[in-house]
Amino acid sequence: MKKILILATFLVLYLGVYYADPILKETSIFAHSKIAGLPVLETNEKELWIEVHDVSPGYKEKLDEVLDILEAHPKAYSKAVLFVIPNHGGNTPLHTYPEFIEKLKALKQKGYVIGLHGYTHKRPMTRPEFETTKEMAETLLQKGQGEFNASNLVFPSYFLPPGWQTSREVDRVLRDRFDYIYYYYFIVSPQGIIPSQSLEYVWHGYSYKAIERAQDDYTSLKGVVRLTVHLGAINTPEGLEFLDRYLGWVEEKSNISGA
Ligand SMILES: [Zn+2]
Repeated sequence: MKKILILATFLVLYLGVYYADPILKETSIFAHSKIAGLPVLETNEKELWIEVHDVSPGYKEKLDEVLDILEAHPKAYSKAVLFVIPNHGGNTPLHTYPEFIEKLKALKQKGYVIGLHGYTHKRPMTRPEFETTKEMAETLLQKGQGEFNASNLVFPSYFLPPGWQTSREVDRVLRDRFDYIYYYYFIVSPQGIIPSQSLEYVWHGYSYKAIERAQDDYTSLKGVVRLTVHLGAINTPEGLEFLDRYLGWVEEKSNISGA
């Protein structure tokens, strides 16, 4: 009896998430477009954008593992953004890692976009870092900028709030400061709002039907298809194999359609 109850609860939760997701997506895109006064952009041209989360000195080897795969499939994606945490955990200020700074400069030269991903990425008071007041957000952004300046790196025009979470007053601050802001269901760009949901298929030991799910999404979606990669979560043999196979498949597909 207890087992049935637990199963029933899971089923209800699963169906709830399954049906609520498209509604949440539509309402959050609509609300943001109204509040920001930005048009919602629709495009039929399909392109894969990759976003790598949590880039920071402690993940240097994990970043290399991912970049090796990205570089083996350069035709699979039209944009790859490396979202850097300028002081991960509050005790790894970027400017004290000269080797990592040089690496970021070289990656930028190669065509990667360097983005900003919070400041420490910690959750003060259990809330995501940028779900806060505009004053606090300004302070965190200034500190982040301080790290980029001290590292002699150009301050990014791309921003990804940790956990994709913000408060409404922080959204305004971000729009003033950045060209591209990555939210869970959409991306704010200078031209308007790009409806595009973050898609992630592997998470540490979890990779159930990852390649099939990714291929189905890529086939059915229009416009910008967003592949989200978390350093650490993708660095398992299954996770890296998924990335390699998926990008290889996309590359082949786009080559055929582009020919
Ligand atoms: Zn993150």
